[in-house]
Amino acid sequence: MKNKIIMATILFLLVIASFMILDENEIVFDLADDIQYQFEYKSEFIEPVVKAYYQKKTFKFIRTSLDIEKVGEVNTSILGEYSIKYKAKKENNENEIVLKFLVVDTTSPNIELIENEEHFTEYGSEYIEEGYSCFDNYDGDITDKVTREVKGDKVIYSVTDSSGNTAVKEREIKYIDTTSPVISFDSPYTAIEVGESYYVGFTAYDLKDGDLTKNVTVTGEADIEKIGIYTLTYVVSDFSGNVTTVKRNVYVYKKQADPDSLNPTKKVVYLTFDDGPSSHTSRLLDILDKYNVKATFFVNGKNKSYFYNVGKAYQKGHSIGNHTYSHNYSKVYSSVDNFYSDLNYNGELIYQQTGSYTKLIRFPGGSSNTVSKKYCKGIMSTLVHSVSNNGYKYFDWNVSSGDAGKNSNRNSVYNNVINGIKKRNVSIVLQHDTKGFSVDAVEEIILWGLANGYTFLPLNLSSPTCHHGVKN
Ligand SMILES: [Zn+2]
Repeated sequence: MKNKIIMATILFLLVIASFMILDENEIVFDLADDIQYQFEYKSEFIEPVVKAYYQKKTFKFIRTSLDIEKVGEVNTSILGEYSIKYKAKKENNENEIVLKFLVVDTTSPNIELIENEEHFTEYGSEYIEEGYSCFDNYDGDITDKVTREVKGDKVIYSVTDSSGNTAVKEREIKYIDTTSPVISFDSPYTAIEVGESYYVGFTAYDLKDGDLTKNVTVTGEADIEKIGIYTLTYVVSDFSGNVTTVKRNVYVYKKQADPDSLNPTKKVVYLTFDDGPSSHTSRLLDILDKYNVKATFFVNGKNKSYFYNVGKAYQKGHSIGNHTYSHNYSKVYSSVDNFYSDLNYNGELIYQQTGSYTKLIRFPGGSSNTVSKKYCKGIMSTLVHSVSNNGYKYFDWNVSSGDAGKNSNRNSVYNNVINGIKKRNVSIVLQHDTKGFSVDAVEEIILWGLANGYTFLPLNLSSPTCHHGVKN
């Protein structure tokens, strides 16, 4: 029995041994080759440990390690796909695996913002960029690729590198408000007739805080029973503490009586308007009408399309004076005859409008002009006497509005006229109704004059005159 067991064991071992001897050898690797290894750009390349064995196909535990021959390498400084071939050999057997490696850039660029503590943006103004830079680990300096967008109170910077990695950074804009609110009125001043009530419409608006009309405080008021100039003060502050103060006049006036019933001994103003009529004359007539103020128009006949205003002005009681037809210095001052032919032609045109021949004249450029020297020496000395001998009365002026000056505007006209009137008892004011801004100043000149006790009159043959003195 014991022998049988031994025999069976030996037989079994023999069978096993013969299997083992017959079992074939193969070369195997301990890594699969279907994995792709990924490395970040410029990172350290850590190679996987590859082992090869020479082993039995069935009895796998019978194996020996083999040397590996490696072909290929990976450079993490260059993006791309790499492969390394691992080869092992033993007797007639040979096997290899190929591992794949990818060197990639998945690092986002870095946007750096320059931030200045003292950098503030005025509310309502555009943010002025403080500066920024952008560096990418692969592309280097890509500041010029950064796009910026202002959204509300934020600036959003974004950039994408050549590998498709995006970076976004936000900056909060620090706003300040140093802009004062604006108080606006329906008109630059209020004019009311004595006894009338008045209402001043205004709004206050702030760029940041919006409508502040309700926050306006008004000090001062007009005595509607008493002619005068009343200054009201409007003050408003925005929520940032910016204060706006506006002073504005309310004129309480009394319409003038008709000139015939006026008999002033001093403080007389003769408003005169030269070179018209023009597109502004009709508006001027309305302003004068409102206060029953009569003025004097020294007209030129060349203004055909508006010349009907000469008749209209005359009908309303304004004086019409002759300012020659052409106002052309080279013509009217070329000879005494030429002056009269131009003057008379204009006189006829005025007659057609008014039914009356005017004897009031104003020389183009005034009697003291020197431009006439160019065309005829001494002509003004002759003319000033000649016109008087012919029954004319000529007028220069003693208050100039300066409205023919280069930088003239409505306010300078107003100030020049008021300052001129203040200095004398009788003023002959020169304005031009060909200038819209000069006409714009007329109402307030009248209001100022009425409030200060002046009487406005039209010129006539018995009016005081004013002569500059002849210079040619
Ligand atoms: Zn003129």
